[in-house]
Amino acid sequence: MIETVAIIGSGLAGAAVATGLRSLGFDGGILLFGDEAHHAYDRPCLSKAALIEGHAEPMPLHPDGWLERNRITLIDEAPVTAFDAASRTLTIGTGQQFTADGIVFATGLRPRTLGVPGEELAGVQYLRTWADQLAMRDALHPGMRLAIVGGGLVGCEIATTARQLGAEVTIYEAADELVARVLGKVVGERCRRNLRSMGVDVRLNTTISAIEGDTAVRGVHSRDGMVDAVDRVLVSIGGVPADDLAAAAGIECHRGIIVDAQGRTSHENVFAVGDVANWPLRDGTRRSRRAMILPIRARRCSIRWGAPGATRQARPSMLRILTASMAARCSLRMGGPSPPTKPICVTAFSCPTRTGWQAFRP
Ligand SMILES: Cc1cc2nc3c(=O)[nH]c(=O)nc-3n(C[C@H](O)[C@H](O)[C@H](O)COP(=O)(O)OP(=O)(O)OC[C@H]3O[C@@H](n4cnc5c(N)ncnc54)[C@H](O)[C@@H]3O)c2cc1C
Repeated sequence: MIETVAIIGSGLAGAAVATGLRSLGFDGGILLFGDEAHHAYDRPCLSKAALIEGHAEPMPLHPDGWLERNRITLIDEAPVTAFDAASRTLTIGTGQQFTADGIVFATGLRPRTLGVPGEELAGVQYLRTWADQLAMRDALHPGMRLAIVGGGLVGCEIATTARQLGAEVTIYEAADELVARVLGKVVGERCRRNLRSMGVDVRLNTTISAIEGDTAVRGVHSRDGMVDAVDRVLVSIGGVPADDLAAAAGIECHRGIIVDAQGRTSHENVFAVGDVANWPLRDGTRRSRRAMILPIRARRCSIRWGAPGATRQARPSMLRILTASMAARCSLRMGGPSPPTKPICVTAFSCPTRTGWQAFRP
């Protein structure tokens, strides 16, 4: 009998599990652990509207009173630092311990690092949290020189915004096209053309081999032998599942926490959802996310995602990006902690601006 559920990670997936549990009639205690100063906010917005429009606060996924209405105890700014799977006991940074009958890992991804000399210098940054976004926003001003390592979706969005704000932008992309891994070469080529017409220096088939500076970044060395003077480096080369805690507790992990179609891990009453989970796909293979783009018409596209629980029983859900309406709607379907028959469906909204999506216009 599960009387208390502890959810590690208060992002989209963790918050969705909490709401989903209540809507499925779960009446026990819900503990929601987050390591950021804000909980359950719209993360996709960080590279879009929040950056260019200068939001004062992150865009919440739920209206005021959500925690109280759903009787959720939030323990924020408190990273869970240890987990004992046998007793299902969590320890947070202060040393305080909590025990629950059901545990849900919703720890998401952490940014992939470059692993080159100079990466620790001030001015080298990632974009994952609200705090990262504030640091990026502070740094962007006319004439500043920004190196973006990684020409994926986020890198291209930031390039667009930074250019709009007057920055000198260079993208270093290891592949032979931008965004090609997710959106294909046709969209990538279009994106590259648009960015170049905006004045972004797009360099393909190259990456950064070293970052130089004394205490702060001053320049970057690229693999094609160039040395460029820059003021800031944004590393945007994807993320790795934040599964260390689970792995250390003996839970089966491989490129994320291994789960079945209902989100169950190798340990009883321990579950994983969202970006940290590695779930089964319809074709019998495993991977956490697959995307393919179906261009529909000008300024509109839709992406079909293989989502958690994407087996024959639970169909993949749709993520739609409607640039015309200035709204992106993202639906993830995931297996929830209980009961296993009914998946929890998460819907989140983000608001890319017209400028934020300029790189992707047809
Ligand atoms: C800049 C950016 C732009 C994006 N744009 C899009 C987009 O346009 N469309 C789209 O579909 N997706 C987009 N994404 C991806 C999307 O945000 C993620 O897929 C989604 O947030 C995943 O939700 P999650 O809850 O699994 O993980 P997260 O939202 O990452 O939440 C995990 C939370 O757990 C916390 N945590 C981790 N470890 C611990 C611990 N030990 N203790 C306590 N808390 C912990 C993390 O700090 C974080 O707050 C974007 C992501 C970024 C960073």
